[in-house]
Amino acid sequence: TEKQKRSANIAIFDQTMLQQQEREYFLKSALASAVDNNELFLMYQPIVSNQNGRVRACEVLLRWSLNGEVISPMEFIPIAESYGLIHELGIWVIEHAFKDVANWCFEDDVSISINISIMQIEHDEFIPFIESALAKSEISPQKVSLEITESLFARDNAKVIEKVRALQALGISVSLDDFGTGFSSLAQLQSLSANTVKIDKTFIDSIESGGRAIIQATNYLAGELSYEVIAEGVETQEQTAILKEIGVENVQGFLFAKPMKVEKLANWNKVHAEKYGLCSL
Ligand code: C2E
Ligand code: MG
Ligand code: MG
Ligand code: MG
Repeated sequence: TEKQKRSANIAIFDQTMLQQQEREYFLKSALASAVDNNELFLMYQPIVSNQNGRVRACEVLLRWSLNGEVISPMEFIPIAESYGLIHELGIWVIEHAFKDVANWCFEDDVSISINISIMQIEHDEFIPFIESALAKSEISPQKVSLEITESLFARDNAKVIEKVRALQALGISVSLDDFGTGFSSLAQLQSLSANTVKIDKTFIDSIESGGRAIIQATNYLAGELSYEVIAEGVETQEQTAILKEIGVENVQGFLFAKPMKVEKLANWNKVHAEKYGLCSL
């Protein structure tokens, strides 16, 4: 009967909830020792000019390898945030990324773009930590960009804006990640005055069915407000061509490169430079 079906559904629902809770609990416990157990590693994904193919930056993407399973940051970052582990992870990411950058294969003007959770930036120790990490690694702050998911900006605007200003005063630039997915409006581009806007993949996916107008509007306003623009998740030549027509300056996506370990960047760069007729180092 309907009723039996319904109660069966509820049972399955409870079961799934329970499994999710158990997994979360398990991951939370394991995550607490991920740093000490050397389970974290970094992947790098190049961001290139859509005009000439030049590498502009690399985004740093965190991975967690647990018992042979690589767990996605989409799963463990929210857990880290809920259980107060995000600060430790964030420190690990920045220290290791700065080390990698110090001797990677790119020219000096290629910057590094690091994802930061809003909780990290709100923490009072964050900016002093960044300052000392920069000093220790001798990396120029102009080479560093921090990506903050735009939808989260709405939460505590005044404080976050103040932190963004402080980072910019150090010479670091700030990117609005996943732009267009939150409750944001284009007006936020003005009030936040960050440096770069990353147009979310959903609009690139739908570029031939409605996304184009949004990309156009964002790109236009970004230009007026002197933002750099990056299109995220570009997977096809067609998308690249339309983005070029619109005038979106930079692109990032599997079409150009998948995230890779730092050791792979030099070889990727060589092949990429040949493809685009760039003079490689
Ligand atoms: P994000 O910052 O928006 O990063 C882009 C995500 O899209 C990455 O997933 C990347 O691998 C993926 N991607 C890039 N190009 C393509 C493409 O052409 N097609 C498809 N299908 N996917 C593409 P990933 O590495 O799984 O990261 C997911 C999210 O986790 C990131 O989204 C970011 O919000 C967060 N994250 C990653 N690393 C860190 C970190 O070190 N700290 C913090 N707080 N968050 C991080
Ligand atoms: Mg990002
Ligand atoms: Mg994001
Ligand atoms: Mg993004």
